[in-house]
Amino acid sequence: MERRSAVGREDAHTSGLYTKRPLAIVRGDGALLYDEDGREYIDCVGGQGSANLGHGNAAVADAIAEQARTLASCTELFYNDRRAELYDVLASLLPASLDRMFLCNSGTEAVEGALKFARAATKRAGVVATMRGFHGKTMGALSATWGPEYRDVFGPLVPGFSHVPFNRPEALGAAITTETAVFIVELVQGEGGVRPATREFVAEAARVCRERGALLVFDEVQTGFCRTGTMFALEQFDVVPDILCVAKSIAGGVPMGAIAFSRAVGDLPKRSHSSTFGGNPLACAAAIAAIGEMRRLELAACARDRGAQLLDGLRAIRSDKVREVRGLGLLAGIELKENAGPTLKALQAEGVLALGAGPTVVRYLPPLVISAAQIDRVLVATAKALA
Ligand SMILES: *Cc1c(COP(=O)(O)O)cnc(C)c1O
Repeated sequence: MERRSAVGREDAHTSGLYTKRPLAIVRGDGALLYDEDGREYIDCVGGQGSANLGHGNAAVADAIAEQARTLASCTELFYNDRRAELYDVLASLLPASLDRMFLCNSGTEAVEGALKFARAATKRAGVVATMRGFHGKTMGALSATWGPEYRDVFGPLVPGFSHVPFNRPEALGAAITTETAVFIVELVQGEGGVRPATREFVAEAARVCRERGALLVFDEVQTGFCRTGTMFALEQFDVVPDILCVAKSIAGGVPMGAIAFSRAVGDLPKRSHSSTFGGNPLACAAAIAAIGEMRRLELAACARDRGAQLLDGLRAIRSDKVREVRGLGLLAGIELKENAGPTLKALQAEGVLALGAGPTVVRYLPPLVISAAQIDRVLVATAKALA
């Protein structure tokens, strides 16, 4: 019997918003993916940051199945045992001052809530974000996102937003004023080209925010959950923000986001913000299991070791096409002197699926369970693709 590819079947109905590769992925195992013809790939896309734990984790699968049979839906009209347990788990990982949380369903929603909370807490409207920053694509988050290709067709955006150059501490003093509610920043710009923040920039941001009475938000949607070599990247910057946004890998691939915030946010008006699916027991059970597995498998150490192996290996590749190699932990990027498209295609032909980050950067975001031998295969494929 003839089987029609998912490619044609999707094309009949897809929104057309995504630039899709003509490849149907149907199964995953650890850091490997398989297409509908059974061909194997090393996954350096990692669900764009949602698959830190690797594909097909049995503990997460069991937790989801068990919770689905027990109770999948329970809105925040009520209390719930799984939600209470997840709060405890997150609180044990986070800086002590970030002891209140709001659970949601995605990264953009975590940012959206953080911006709303900051406006409510400070009674100010101003939001300062960074050039090349990425914070999501709903209206509020999009207003903080830099990319004109995402913004221009949807204007007018939310008023009160401005952007400062990333990693220029001297620009912060003029941009963050006594009208500023919040400064939001990624500790490594992911979509914007894999650019780690400097310690000076982050420290100065914290100092200026404190001086002007603005709140500081770290968007760790991509850098959170062991990606950069620590549970959260903030541990490497010695700065605790007023609000932390996380999502992507929090629940082992199940959609979930969270906002953790300090007492600086104060009391939020009852019912001013909410989410039907936020904190549902199914996602909470998945998150508890996923975080348990991250600890058991010591994924932070894996990200440090395999990240060093990847970055050292990429830096050792001699190619006229390479401008710079950047990264932190197992979040790595090669900035090319040319468009990244042909290199991504060549990598795919070599059995490695990688990701762009802006037009000229090849980004590697593999599951953190990737083995040393698999990293070696990625390096061989990259050297070939850049030859
Ligand atoms: C992916 C991402 C978002 C948006 O997350 P979604 O779940 O796609 O809405 C926000 N901020 C950062 C830093 C991201 O990498």
